[in-house]
Amino acid sequence: MTEKCISCELSLEDIIKEYGQNAAEDGYRLEKGFLCEPCAEYDLTEPPLTVYHNSEDIPKRIGHYISDYWLEGEEAPFSFEWVPTDAWRGHYETKHNDGLVSIFDDSILSYHESEQMLKALHDIALKAFDLTNVDYYRVFSRTSNVFCTNMDIYIEKAKEKLGNEIIETAKKYVNYDNPTFSTGILFPRSEPAPFELGNTRAVKETEASQEVKQLVLEIGKEIISQ
Ligand SMILES: [Zn+2]
Repeated sequence: MTEKCISCELSLEDIIKEYGQNAAEDGYRLEKGFLCEPCAEYDLTEPPLTVYHNSEDIPKRIGHYISDYWLEGEEAPFSFEWVPTDAWRGHYETKHNDGLVSIFDDSILSYHESEQMLKALHDIALKAFDLTNVDYYRVFSRTSNVFCTNMDIYIEKAKEKLGNEIIETAKKYVNYDNPTFSTGILFPRSEPAPFELGNTRAVKETEASQEVKQLVLEIGKEIISQ
């Protein structure tokens, strides 16, 4: 039996004929079988998951067959499963390893009012995590809608309480629960709805430690004035 690529299912001979000798030589021997070089490249071009660790700005990609973790000899802290909504639509659901806990997930919808609110929430939470030494990951996963990306935030389990307080307080600050951000999605509004970020009063009424409230207010003020 001649060997075939587990993705494109072409034989080694056809891969060489089609893409040249390197396509076969630079392929990978995986547990499941052989993956040709063009397929490996494609796998990481539009990966289901893109992971950012702490404030690092170079992400690690997780594809169907390989990942940047695997290429660097590490075990990926995340995996995924495709969840179909119907025959045409769906999204990837992220799974994480035991040392982590999910503290936030939402969909980023381009051109919707919530995009700006989520950006502020994201920036405030991350800066607060940096300042309080919380180890965190942001995981972006694709959906069948090109205007919609899911974002999950995971933190180390040991800091779950602090991380949750930060997220919950930051949500109050940016008025996360304002209906403007959860409506106008299926039927877009004719005019963008007005909204306000920076709800100091709501933060004061949040159940969180004084330190967290203070931190969110200080960072928040700086971020929304940018
Ligand atoms: Zn292939």
